Amino acid sequence: MPGELVVVALGGNALLQRGQRGTFEEQYANVQETSRYLADLVERGYRLVITHGNGPQVGATMLRHDAGLKLYNVPPFPMDVCGAETQGFIGYMIQQALRTELKHRGIDKYVITVITRVIVDENDPAFRNPTKPVGPFYTREEMERMKAEHPEFVFKEDKARGGWRRVVPSPDPKIIAERHAIRTLVDAGFIVVACGGGGIPIIEKDGWRAVGVEAVIDKDLASERLATLIRADYLVILTDVDGAYLDFGKPTQRRLGVVRVSELKRYYEEGHFGEGSMGPKVLAAIRFIENGGKRAVIAERSQVLAAVEGKAGTQVYPD
Ligand code: ADP
Ligand code: MG
Repeated sequence: MPGELVVVALGGNALLQRGQRGTFEEQYANVQETSRYLADLVERGYRLVITHGNGPQVGATMLRHDAGLKLYNVPPFPMDVCGAETQGFIGYMIQQALRTELKHRGIDKYVITVITRVIVDENDPAFRNPTKPVGPFYTREEMERMKAEHPEFVFKEDKARGGWRRVVPSPDPKIIAERHAIRTLVDAGFIVVACGGGGIPIIEKDGWRAVGVEAVIDKDLASERLATLIRADYLVILTDVDGAYLDFGKPTQRRLGVVRVSELKRYYEEGHFGEGSMGPKVLAAIRFIENGGKRAVIAERSQVLAAVEGKAGTQVYPD
């Protein structure tokens, strides 16, 4: 009997802690710690698909490309390619650390990363309203030079931090292009890392021609799409807080324990959850349950086993 299938979405803190610079050693140590928590699930017989964010990592990659251009005239790559680069190196860290942890425990399971593309709708309203800041800060002159070369780029001034920054759309993920490959690998007994950074956003022009786009997909919403499409039993979203709170940050704040999806939807619409932080996690949980998932959980990273067992975090059930 194959074990139940869990999609675990890793938050930023699984790779980098607040205040760290982002050296490889720091990131690898964080991944090693994360791997110890994940190995507990594998040890209990759960099958695992792991997704993760890439905000600080893709930011650093874009800075490297920018510095490479300025110092050595090495041409920078577009954002979708930067996304693929980070999926590769983060996947490598997880393969290395989790495989080592499992081997150490006498579990003979392999971890494999799938470079994952996510299909978005080219008519998504997000493309008319780019909101997500990415990459380096530019001076006005640099910004104008880039705009001359790429008239489609949109920049916003960040007065507080003194500079101009590109903003890109954050379209809603529709279909995980590699879903069948991921499901096949799961069925063959592999632990799969997929949808890194929310996946590489692509559109299908005229219904067939795949084109990478300059955009960012929310990793929690992409994780829901993947969990639903591969028919996972549970979607577990790990982060740096022990659940979703009502009245977050106020004296009256309280953590949601067990909650039914319709009740959570009401709180979501009342605006309890931070935009771009807890909001997309709650929305992903709601969508997963509405699409037929058994249970979605939002929990702190070290609590992943208890979260899957229904004993920690915010547990979202169907009505
Ligand atoms: P991740 O990298 O794990 O996706 P985020 O920073 O995007 O992490 O989201 C987690 C953060 O969401 C928490 O650290 C917390 O500050 C913030 N947050 C906003 N609203 C809420 C809420 N209602 N309940 C809990 N945390 C919230
Ligand atoms: Mg986040």
